[in-house]
Amino acid sequence: MNSSNEGRGPANGRELYDCIVIGAGPAGLSASLFLARYLHRTLTFHHNSPRNEYAHGVHGFLGHHGIRPGELLARGRDEVTSHGGLIIEACVTAVERVSPQHFRVFVAEAGTEQKVFEAQRLLLATGLRDLTPDCPGFREFYGWSVFHCPDCDGFEVKDKRVAVLAYGKNAAGFTENLLTWTRKLTLLTDQNEISEDDHAKLAALDVAVRIENVVALEGDKSTRQLQRVLFAQGEPLECDALFFSLGTELATDFHEKLGCRLDPECDLLWVDDTQQTSVEGVYAAGDVTPQSQLAVVAAAEGAMAAIHIHRSFNPKQR
Ligand SMILES: Cc1cc2nc3c(=O)[nH]c(=O)nc-3n(C[C@H](O)[C@H](O)[C@H](O)COP(=O)(O)OP(=O)(O)OC[C@H]3O[C@@H](n4cnc5c(N)ncnc54)[C@H](O)[C@@H]3O)c2cc1C
Repeated sequence: MNSSNEGRGPANGRELYDCIVIGAGPAGLSASLFLARYLHRTLTFHHNSPRNEYAHGVHGFLGHHGIRPGELLARGRDEVTSHGGLIIEACVTAVERVSPQHFRVFVAEAGTEQKVFEAQRLLLATGLRDLTPDCPGFREFYGWSVFHCPDCDGFEVKDKRVAVLAYGKNAAGFTENLLTWTRKLTLLTDQNEISEDDHAKLAALDVAVRIENVVALEGDKSTRQLQRVLFAQGEPLECDALFFSLGTELATDFHEKLGCRLDPECDLLWVDDTQQTSVEGVYAAGDVTPQSQLAVVAAAEGAMAAIHIHRSFNPKQR
């Protein structure tokens, strides 16, 4: 029995878990699996909105390439519970730091009163929300022929005609990344935000630029294959796929409530090399941290967080 069992017991009559994991995407489930295998009393919450719920398959996850996102997570949940981990589907509405070794998590379940859970460590694995195009057709094609992540889906558009919807100073760089897979690129953007230099660079790379408002995406909805982009004015653009880069935001503000500092370069949660945030006892893993936003990276970070949470209970084993 490891030393984490010491100090367990009821807090205000409630169970005191070793760790509460908020989020059951690849990061949270991977952490929960390792924590359960270290025999820690672990409670994991999710409310079924993983970031890639629209994707047709998870690409580049070694041994699971192409698996449906829902299936990967269902398998993960089974692995966690078969090791004794507890998973509850419910929305965490608030978190509170009582002391460096004591956290409270407030949970709302449909049709019931708010419940409170307590733990000695907290792992934030709540992921990001993507800012997505707000036009008819988007949802039908998202994850099948409309993508946001070249690392995940660039291979799928090799030599295809690709529209790129991106604004701001990163639009040209995002478009350039896609040249790895295809030279048939058209950037759809906002004139004011593309510099003269970027215009010249894109022209030299043979990337067409259209400065027009996108009003709809059209295609074959039965196969979820995008065929064209429609504009407020101007000819439709025939294409095979669209990538967009409109930004992301953290899915929750729990880090603010806990006082966790953000990495100033990307506004994601700063973590040290043990996945601990700037607040003792609070760890973070997955898309909420500054690493690459990939399922396999999130899972690896979750595993590392669990290893270091375990060591924090057993400092002599370091
Ligand atoms: C369309 C699309 C396609 C993608 N394709 C790929 C791909 O092919 N390959 C790849 O490697 N990556 C892909 N990604 C990226 C990948 O999905 C993410 O990197 C990965 O899901 C991050 O895992 P995570 O555990 O950090 O967060 P998520 O998977 O987003 O999980 C977050 C978890 O937090 C929970 N949560 C959030 N708030 C609360 C709350 N208040 N209470 C309770 N639970 C909460 C959610 O329920 C969820 O369980 C894709 C992403 C998208 C959007």
